[in-house]
This record gives sequence, C-alpha cells and structure tokens, in this order.
Amino acid sequence: MLTAQNISKTYPGGEEALRGVSFDVTGDEVVAIIGPSGAGKSTLIECINRLTEPTDGEIRLDDVTVTALSDRQLRRTRRDIAMIFQEYNLVERLTVMENVLSGRLGYLSTWNAFRRKFPAEDIEFARETLERVGLGGHERDRADELSGGQRQRVGIARAVVQRPKIMLADEPTSSLDPETSHAVMELLTEIAADERIPVLINIHEVELAVEYADRIIGLADGELVFDGPPEALDETA
Ligand code: ADP
Ligand code: ADP
Repeated sequence: MLTAQNISKTYPGGEEALRGVSFDVTGDEVVAIIGPSGAGKSTLIECINRLTEPTDGEIRLDDVTVTALSDRQLRRTRRDIAMIFQEYNLVERLTVMENVLSGRLGYLSTWNAFRRKFPAEDIEFARETLERVGLGGHERDRADELSGGQRQRVGIARAVVQRPKIMLADEPTSSLDPETSHAVMELLTEIAADERIPVLINIHEVELAVEYADRIIGLADGELVFDGPPEALDETA
C-alpha cells in the first residue's frame, strides 16, 4: 500500500505546488490524478519516488517510509516504484529487448549491470511481457525505429518487468494521438490488473481517466479537491 500523508511542496522560487495532499493507494487499483495545468499533478507523482523532494509530509510504501530514506536506501526502494513517462524515456540506440530488460538493472550486481548480464528468467519474463504488449517479434528492433504507441508499449513492458509494488505514469498518453491514447490506456490498465500492480496515472484528459480508472483524485491549485470513483465525479460536475 502507498500512503501519501500531508504532502506539501514549495519550489525554491516560492511556488506552492502542493498543499497538504493526503491519499492511499491500496490493492490493484488504477488511480488517475486529474486537474488543470499547474494544479500540481506532475509534482505529486515526482514526490512519490522523491524525484522531487517534498517540503513536508510523509510517503510510505508498505513498511518503508520513503521520505525518511538515505540516498542509498532510496536507490533500493526505487526498484519497487516503476515509472512510465510522457516521452517514454527509452534509450533510443538500444533494442526493444534491451530497453525492457533495463527495468531489471537495479537488481543486478554492479559487475553484471556493467556487462548487462541478466538471468535467464529475466529474459524469459521480458519476452513474455513483450508478447503481452503486442510487440512479440520486435525484440531486436531499435527503439528509434518505433512509433510513439509502440514506444509507450515498451515503456509499459519495462515497468512491468521491473516487478514493482506500484507503477507511476506521468502523462503517459500526452504525446500520442487519441486512438493510440485509448489503446495505451487499455493496455496499461489491463496489464496492471492482471499483474496485480496498482497504478497511479497523471492524466489531463478527463474522459480517459473516467473510462479507465477505478478511482479519481482531483487536484486544483495544489490541493486535493476530489477523491472517489469516476461516477461520483459526474455527479459533482
Ligand atoms: P501539473 O502537472 O498539474 O500541470 P505541476 O506539478 O507541473 O502541475 O506544477 C505545479 C506548479 O508548480 C505550477 O505552478 C508550476 O509552475 C510549478 N512548478 C513545477 N515545477 C517547478 C519547478 N521545477 N520550479 C518551480 N516551479 C515549478
Ligand atoms: P540504475 O542502477 O539503473 O541507475 P537504480 O538502482 O538507481 O537504477 O533504480 C532502480 C529503478 O528505479 C530503475 O530501474 C528505474 O526505473 C527507477 N529509477 C531510478 N532513478 C529514478 C528516478 N530518478 N526517477 C524515477 N525512477 C527512477
């Protein structure tokens, strides 16, 4: 379970991006964070794995208090938190398979990571996951040969192969056309349910959130203004 308690973030310039935001993510929920541009959605996602340091508040993942970890401990805990990015963040000159396997890099010894030597079960799981995301047969393609939708499928496969406790997706469809956005959201939410990995998605398209999320968190001006099922959002609107 992920718990965010009273998270606040004031940037060095004085911008209060988050003010006392609290919520839990339990089980295998798909939770979408919605809100206008500048509401603090990206900042909230980034505070969870401390890509951005919260100014105040506590993040817990199961029995680990993420906000209390040293840099060294944080490196280990980040294995449990997989990221899916708007711009995919693939290594363009590497193959699809190499990109997916990089989700396992944090589990290798330094020497094996240096040689990129993965155990056979990692390679098998990566292969199976690529089949699942519809990229069977593309293992040896270079990432820079792929379309946007295919790249995001690689991003999803990399996150799943990491075997995380939670996946965080920061605007995963914002670089994609509407049709591809639907396909990617459907895939992400199906695979999250099958693998029983909760996923927290920052998304600005409300209709995608309503269609695919089990639960919606609404942010406005750095504050949590809604937390409930998509149906309840319709009633408020
Ligand atoms: P959203 O993802 O909802 O668009 P953000 O989390 O990106 O919102 O931004 C929330 C607020 O914090 C905005 O006012 C934005 O300008 C500000 N902000 C975001 N990143 C930084 C930063 N690195 N430095 C200063 N202010 C920032
Ligand atoms: P690496 O050894 O590849 O640098 P780490 O051991 O630092 O990886 O992190 C383990 C996992 O956590 C990585 O596979 C990556 O997906 C994720 N991760 C690492 N750093 C960050 C970061 N700054 N923001 C988001 N996720 C990260």
